[in-house]
Amino acid sequence: MLLNGEKEGRNKLVEYGKKLLETGLVQGTWGNLSIRLDDQYMIVSPSGIDYERITPEDIVKVDINTLEFEGALKPTSEKSLHAGVYAVRPDVNAVIHTHSKYCSIFAACHMPLQVEDPEVMERIGEIINISEYGFPGTSQLTEHTLKALSSACGCIMANHGMLCCGTDIEDAFEICGLIERAAESYIDKRWDVNHDGINNPGSTGQG
Ligand SMILES: [Zn+2]
Repeated sequence: MLLNGEKEGRNKLVEYGKKLLETGLVQGTWGNLSIRLDDQYMIVSPSGIDYERITPEDIVKVDINTLEFEGALKPTSEKSLHAGVYAVRPDVNAVIHTHSKYCSIFAACHMPLQVEDPEVMERIGEIINISEYGFPGTSQLTEHTLKALSSACGCIMANHGMLCCGTDIEDAFEICGLIERAAESYIDKRWDVNHDGINNPGSTGQG
């Protein structure tokens, strides 16, 4: 959906921050999201404020090239990660970064996510890459994440979480949910098949 100015963008970031919280994709002040306004500016979630309490005025406008920002509140500490995506991906107008539960399992295992549902695969691709590790908030994290993301709609960030992007915030939010559910489904399937005796109701073991 085409954005009707900065005000609408601010409202959307507040709305989608709450949606991420409601759907369990973020917890508390973790994770962050942004929208591209134009070639020079993006608006991002502020640092350290609970998604339930963020207002449109709290959203921070940041220069994509210099990372300078306007206003009293600090932008998310991962602003360079968001700016990096906009700088190399002209097709992307919204970015979401989460520490969502199932993607974090892949992140901890340094394992790419194989998407298995053909319909979901059509939407988000066959493999969600895993990045090399980079310390949070550093240029190394941005570099490694961009490499893993490449031209895809998302990637897993080693020992950290996931990042996804879309043509607008609606698109990015949908992709975020699809990647997390693909990760959940991958784990659930193997749990049932490979852990006979642990998760088998017929087993005589205790628990
Ligand atoms: Zn993070």
